[in-house]
Amino acid sequence: MKHFHQLKAELNRVCPGLEIKEQEPMDQYTTFRIGGPVALMAVPRTTEETVAVIRTARDMGIEPFLLGRGSNLLCGDGALEHFVIRTSPGLDQVERVGETTLRCGAGALMRRVACEAQRCGLTGFEFAHGIPGTMGGGVVMNAGAYGGELKNVVTETTAMDAQGNILTFKGEEQGFAYRKSTFLKEGLIVLHSLVELQPGDPQTIQDQIDDYLRRRKRTQPLEWPSAGSTFKRPVGAYAAALIDQCRLKGCQIGGAQVSEKHAGFVVNKGGASCADVLALTEHIKQVVLDKTGFQLELEIRLML
Ligand SMILES: Cc1cc2nc3c(=O)[nH]c(=O)nc-3n(C[C@H](O)[C@H](O)[C@H](O)COP(=O)(O)OP(=O)(O)OC[C@H]3O[C@@H](n4cnc5c(N)ncnc54)[C@H](O)[C@@H]3O)c2cc1C
Repeated sequence: MKHFHQLKAELNRVCPGLEIKEQEPMDQYTTFRIGGPVALMAVPRTTEETVAVIRTARDMGIEPFLLGRGSNLLCGDGALEHFVIRTSPGLDQVERVGETTLRCGAGALMRRVACEAQRCGLTGFEFAHGIPGTMGGGVVMNAGAYGGELKNVVTETTAMDAQGNILTFKGEEQGFAYRKSTFLKEGLIVLHSLVELQPGDPQTIQDQIDDYLRRRKRTQPLEWPSAGSTFKRPVGAYAAALIDQCRLKGCQIGGAQVSEKHAGFVVNKGGASCADVLALTEHIKQVVLDKTGFQLELEIRLML
């Protein structure tokens, strides 16, 4: 049993006025709308406070779980024995720090960064406007869409390692690859990143954003709660195409369904539990393996 009560008392002492919640239902914090109550959640107001909160928890032997927008996350149904640190809205600063450079806090929504870039007449971030996560969650996963990925625009990231050191990773040190990064591999906590763009015409940038959003609306089941693409793209194929080929569209377990609109999405049709989603994803993996020989791997992250 972890010492969440002692941690709460210690956090109140170290960071007076810090927002701390007990037994918060995670279904309120995930786009899947699934998840039981989490033992403790803190919402730090600044980077300095975030660092202090992480250090305090670790000193007590409790490893925090960093939560962005919860748009790539499936949480367990029962009591969740975790200490969650929410980066939004406290770390949501987006600042222009150079002619073509934006400095983005880990809690800034990618949509906001895209809007700020458009406002400044900077191109290169349009692809990320429709990805419903934060910069921290996006950098960890190297989020991407429509041929763009954060790898191409994030030039530097400041993160905290397990020993509490604050380190800066430049360019290739960030280890970006398909849905991978140094931060994911090493379990580092992202604090902020620099985004480097090019000058562009604000109207053309807006038109490109609108076009991507229209495409998303047409092809993705945005009307149902989900965590986006359920599986990573296997080498040499597309997960959605394989699932479709196996005639799994519409396949449902409890409240979890393979979207009829886009086979790559598992959607919550109402009252889906984590157990429903996991049973469905296991079924999909088995059928796809048996019929096509491809081994699918979950893209969504789990908090159990
Ligand atoms: C409708 C829909 C469409 C989507 N479309 C796309 C798409 O086109 N492309 C794409 O790549 N993704 C897509 N996604 C998935 C998701 O939006 C991205 O993976 C996003 O980057 C997740 O960010 P988040 O802030 O929501 O992260 P969360 O879901 O909160 O967290 C995801 C993981 O990142 C970790 N994490 C979060 N913040 C930090 C931090 N500061 N430091 C360290 N670890 C951290 C968490 O602990 C967790 O393991 C989609 C999701 C939905 C619901």
